[in-house]
Amino acid sequence: MKEFSRYERQFILKGIGREGQRLLDESKVAVIGIGALGSVTANLLARAGIGHLTLMDRDFLEINNLQRQVLYDEKDIAENLPKAVAAQKKLIQANSEITITAEVTDLNSSNIEALLQGYDLIIDGTDNFETRFLINDYCLKNKIPWIYGGAVSTEGMSFVILPGKGPCLRCLFGESPGPENAQTCDQVGILASVAHLVASFQATEAIKILAGKMDAVERKLWKVDLWSRQFQAISVEHLREFPCSGCREQSYPYLERKIASRAVTLCGRNAVQIYQTGPQKIDFEILARKLEGQAAVKFNDYLLNVHLAPYEITVFKNGRAIVRGTEDAGQAKSLYARYIGG
Ligand SMILES: [Zn+2]
Repeated sequence: MKEFSRYERQFILKGIGREGQRLLDESKVAVIGIGALGSVTANLLARAGIGHLTLMDRDFLEINNLQRQVLYDEKDIAENLPKAVAAQKKLIQANSEITITAEVTDLNSSNIEALLQGYDLIIDGTDNFETRFLINDYCLKNKIPWIYGGAVSTEGMSFVILPGKGPCLRCLFGESPGPENAQTCDQVGILASVAHLVASFQATEAIKILAGKMDAVERKLWKVDLWSRQFQAISVEHLREFPCSGCREQSYPYLERKIASRAVTLCGRNAVQIYQTGPQKIDFEILARKLEGQAAVKFNDYLLNVHLAPYEITVFKNGRAIVRGTEDAGQAKSLYARYIGG
């Protein structure tokens, strides 16, 4: 039996109430990327009583994350946890009455249909347009609302996408800007408070949609520069006249795009991600024994870390790996082949 009294401040809140709370409890939400934005939205939504929350992230924790990613602490870093797992452990302590699932995985065109089936709403906590345009295509095709959010430096932006009822991300931005055009927080830094503000906006709009308060949903593009205190809500109504190919003729190029290479440079991270080659699970104990004497190795239930200065290979259970210390995909692949396996 659920202890609904934990939500009494939402029962008396105009806009949610008991009926709204019941709808939140029946909702299933996926947060993609549990970093600066995702850790705040996941925190707010878990405490607000979203019945089923999935936390999806491809990465592990690093010390520079603690400046802005509120769900994590030094102990999680010492334990070398993937973000999704550390976030799940933390949020179960905040609300044990909802279902919280952790997915340590890289969302891409080959797995999105399987991973995002059956959700009522998707929250963007990613840091790249490649994944956002993939989510956009998936949500357009399946008529699922999703909430874009981005924050870099002292600026942030958010936009609610309601497929069939207004412009989508591709209507708004055209085709995906290449990595060379997009600033990242690895290059220009990020003020934690601006990320938290954008994430709070995303969580608020999510609660409105899930509680059935569609009239209250913000339909403008919301922008902020917190440092210079500039807040803007920009009308996007005119975009309805020029819909993108997804909205116009159900064309979803990002869903159909094949993964071009086994190794992809993670922009601004001085790292390369290597995709798994098969469905087999890696046995970390056997791999650690194999590497004994060659490199410093440590592992836990989720990942294995090989330290080979100046490189570092982090390999996940399914064989996917992040090689740090290089942006050269070929070099990363050869390090992977040499130490992890072909
Ligand atoms: Zn569109």
